Amino acid sequence: MQPPASLELQIFRTLSDNCGALIRDRASGLCAAVDAPEASPIVEAAKARGWTISHLFITHEHGDHVEGAAALKAATACTVIGPAQAGPGAPLDRVVAEGDEVRLGETPFRIWATPGHSPGHVTWVSTAAKLALVGDVVFVMGCGRLSGDTAAQLWRSLSRIAALDDDVTLVTGHDYTFGNARFAAAMEPGNAAVMARTAEAERRAASRDFWAVTSVGEEKATNPFFRAGDPALMARLGDSDAGAAFAHLRELKNGFRG
Ligand SMILES: [Zn+2]
Repeated sequence: MQPPASLELQIFRTLSDNCGALIRDRASGLCAAVDAPEASPIVEAAKARGWTISHLFITHEHGDHVEGAAALKAATACTVIGPAQAGPGAPLDRVVAEGDEVRLGETPFRIWATPGHSPGHVTWVSTAAKLALVGDVVFVMGCGRLSGDTAAQLWRSLSRIAALDDDVTLVTGHDYTFGNARFAAAMEPGNAAVMARTAEAERRAASRDFWAVTSVGEEKATNPFFRAGDPALMARLGDSDAGAAFAHLRELKNGFRG
């Protein structure tokens, strides 16, 4: 993936499969960590590039996204910004909700409320930088589980992200790509784009190549959850509308042992 023009992007593994992400605004040098599964790999990644972490942008309240927030703030004095629901786990300096704007130097981000995976989930969208921080709403070839919300909510959130331009880069919350690809291949074995990307996922998993960044266009081509409205896929599933097909796919994925 090419980093967006006005930003530099650094991606690395944290915990077992969580995505560590640093985004740096080239114009100002300000640098945001995206979620804080654990502090030390984030601090080390910034140090290795000579970046100074000024902000922590939080996508949602789950423990594996906020547990390192207090330690990261202690280590860097960063400004912690996230949804109110992340408050118990993270020392928030600013609470954000639908429609708010946050600037990282010259780069503006709009906050979208994107519930479905968790009630407080937000997505950080910069149309200027062609980048969205989608947390656990979208994964490479997959989507988040429902935890406390409905499939209809997650479908609305995912559809909103899918309506962004094809060349918008998506920074996701985990590398679940191998398992997601196997599910996608089971759902659409006749789809050449899905099968080619599944082969790539197998190669990359074999070399432990961390893969948690994608684009809207690639997901529209290969992610069954983005493709729930595809007539052939709906026909295979026996569903008559995209929302029902999405809920059906989410159920099937929960039980999938590929
Ligand atoms: Zn989560």
